[in-house]
This record gives sequence, structure tokens and C-alpha cells, in this order.
Amino acid sequence: MPELLTEDQQRLAAKTQSFAETHLLNLDAQLSRESRAGIISAAREAGFFAMTQPKEYGGSAAGTLEMTVVRDVLGACNAPHQHLIFGPGPGVLAGADGELRESHLAPLLRGEKRAGFGFTEPDDASAPTSAVADGDAWVVNGQKSYVTGGSEADFINTLVQIPELGPALLVVDSNAPGVTVARRFESLDGSHHAAFAFNDVRVPKSHLIGKPGEGLPRAMRQIGDTRLAIAAQCTGLLRWVDAYLSEYLLGNDRSGKPRGSKEGIRLRYADARITSFAVRSMVYRTARLADAGENIVNEAIACKVMATETIGNVVDNAIQLVGGNALVAGHPLERLYRQVRSLRLAEGGSDVLRLNLARGRLELNKGRI
Ligand SMILES: Cc1cc2nc3c(=O)[nH]c(=O)nc-3n(C[C@H](O)[C@H](O)[C@H](O)COP(=O)(O)OP(=O)(O)OC[C@H]3O[C@@H](n4cnc5c(N)ncnc54)[C@H](O)[C@@H]3O)c2cc1C
Repeated sequence: MPELLTEDQQRLAAKTQSFAETHLLNLDAQLSRESRAGIISAAREAGFFAMTQPKEYGGSAAGTLEMTVVRDVLGACNAPHQHLIFGPGPGVLAGADGELRESHLAPLLRGEKRAGFGFTEPDDASAPTSAVADGDAWVVNGQKSYVTGGSEADFINTLVQIPELGPALLVVDSNAPGVTVARRFESLDGSHHAAFAFNDVRVPKSHLIGKPGEGLPRAMRQIGDTRLAIAAQCTGLLRWVDAYLSEYLLGNDRSGKPRGSKEGIRLRYADARITSFAVRSMVYRTARLADAGENIVNEAIACKVMATETIGNVVDNAIQLVGGNALVAGHPLERLYRQVRSLRLAEGGSDVLRLNLARGRLELNKGRI
């Protein structure tokens, strides 16, 4: 076992595989409300739902390696709707104190309220979203252009600028007067988003997460936590593509010979395996470092860039080798191609992450090879 998993971790991998086969494979792209509820309930019963939730709220707060194993296996099954099996994590509300814990964090973790994350702003915004103190409230003005799940969100964890005090995170209820959904849209991967406008929205002072000035590091930590998760999912997807391609190349082409008998095809196939091996190795190493309490900010960045770019290249290459059939709507490679493209932008675009990585070494002397 190259990942050197303990018996417990191997059991977790087998349980995940069996869950995916029973509950996730062969589902339609659009789920009915009942099917969705059925998956969530089965995931609760099997213990997956609690893995992403803190112990103090009844979760099991799984370690990074355990989460990596689960995401890797789900990816390797190319299971649709796999995000449904995890309960909502605290996100930027982790460590929220006072009223926010009861009014927003607890219902979020119980699945009674949904949150969105408002960070990205439109290119043509005249000024960044701001919050100005007025009596017992912050008055918020501005726009957020890309809030995933924004239309269904009960509240948006919003990055705002407080004049003289700096960036902060505020919980803005979606139904507060002055909050409007300016646009709803779907991206290439099929996920749904909304753009918001805030006009003189009065937000209670108690809705500030942490202190003024802490907004950016808190937002970055939340984004940082998701980077290794994305890389782990890509690790599994790479295994799925490898299995698909191996089977395809062992089959015969029109001449009656195995498709994989041509050297040119073997070279491309080998490249896919080499880079997939590199991704899997670095993701598992980083997960172990995280569980050992090491700072993995730079390593998670490296994993996210490498894993998302590799899956993009590998799927593209696989489509080339399979040919036109792979582009027919509904073909698993066609679906995967659309699904993985967004990963190079969401949670930090590749080039922006590269700059962060270089800064980590050159200015902060952080990170390892
Ligand atoms: C599926 C999906 C879900 C998303 N969900 C959310 C969400 O829930 N909440 C949210 O707030 N946002 C969300 N986003 C938005 C996402 O965070 C941004 O798209 C991403 O951060 C890039 O920002 P941008 O689109 O404004 O592009 P820009 O910042 O304009 O960057 C575009 C490109 O310009 C180049 N570039 C930009 N800055 C630099 C630089 N400093 N140095 C070198 N090159 C640079 C890079 O090539 C970069 O990819 C989501 C995006 C996607 C695709």
C-alpha cells in the first residue's frame, strides 16, 4: 500500500468505496429533493457527515489524512454529488464567539441555515465593499460578484473594509433590508452562484467575526483549508481517469490491434501516470505533515496548483486519445472536463497562488520541497 495506511484508514477507504457504490454512483445530474435528503441521511448514519464538523458540536473532526483518504476514494469512483456527504464545516465562523455562535454557527452546523462566502468583487466596482459604524450597527455598501450557493444562502460571510481599521468579516443576513441578488448564474461545472448588491444594509455590531483588521487572514485561512481538499479530490479523479484510460487502451481499435499498442499513445498515457503519481505522493505527504501539526500553507498551495493543473491536462489528454466520442454530451470525460476547469480559478487562481508561494520562500522563508 503506497500510502502506508493503517488498518483503520484502510477500513475507512473500503467503507467510503462501498458508500459511493451504494448511494452515489448512477445518480442523475439533477437530484430531486428526496434523493438529496436520502444521501444526506445515509451519510449521517455512516458517519461521513460528522467528519467535517467540530467535536464540540457533535462532529468527529476527522484528521487531514482521513479526509484525504475519503476524498481520494470518492474521486477515484468519480462519484457525482459527493459534496453532499459532508456536513457543513464552520468555515470563517470557526472561533466566532458571543451571539453569532447561537444565531448562525450552531444552525449552520446542524444544517438548518446555509452560508455563502462573499469575497470576490466585480472588476468595475467603484470602491471595495465597506462597513461604517453607526450606533449599534455597521452600515454596509458595496457588491460581491461570485457567491457560490448565494441564492439559497441565509447569510453571507462578507469581506468588508472598515475605514481606518482595515478588512473585516461580517455576517450579513440575506433577508436584511438593502441586500439584493443582482444576478443568478451557473458556471461551466454546473454549480450555481449569485452576485449581491448591498445598499445601506444595517448589520448588528455583534455580527463581526473576530476583530476589525482580521478579515483577510481569516478569509485566507478558510480558503487555505479548502485547497488540500480540492487537491485530494483531484488525486482520486486522476485515478479514475487512469482506470478509464487503461481499459480503453487495452481494447482494440478499427485495425483489430489494442489501441495502446502504438508508441505515440503510450507516451501520452505514461505522462498522465507520471504526473498523477507525483500529485498523489505530494497530497498524501502534505496531509501527514498537517496531522503532525506542521504549517502547510505553502505545501497546500503547491498541491492545489499541481493537482488542478494536472487533472486539467490529464482529462484533456484522455479526450484526445479517446476521440470524438469523449466530447458527446453526457460522456464521463466530457462531464469531467467541465467539472475540473473551474478548480484552477476557485479558491485562488493558479498564478496568484504561484506568487504567494514565491513570496512564502523569498520574503518569509517558509515552505519546503
Ligand atoms: C466555481 C467557482 C466558485 C467560486 N465561488 C466563490 C465564492 O463562493 N465566493 C467568492 O467570493 N468567490 C468565488 N469565486 C470567485 C473566485 O474566487 C475568483 O474567480 C478567483 O479568485 C479569481 O478572481 P477573479 O475572477 O476576480 O479574476 P482576477 O482576479 O481578475 O484574475 C484573473 C487572472 O488574472 C491574473 N492575475 C490576477 N491577479 C494577478 C496577480 N497579482 N499576478 C499575476 N496574475 C494575476 C491571473 O491569471 C488570474 O487568473 C468562485 C469562482 C469559481 C470559478
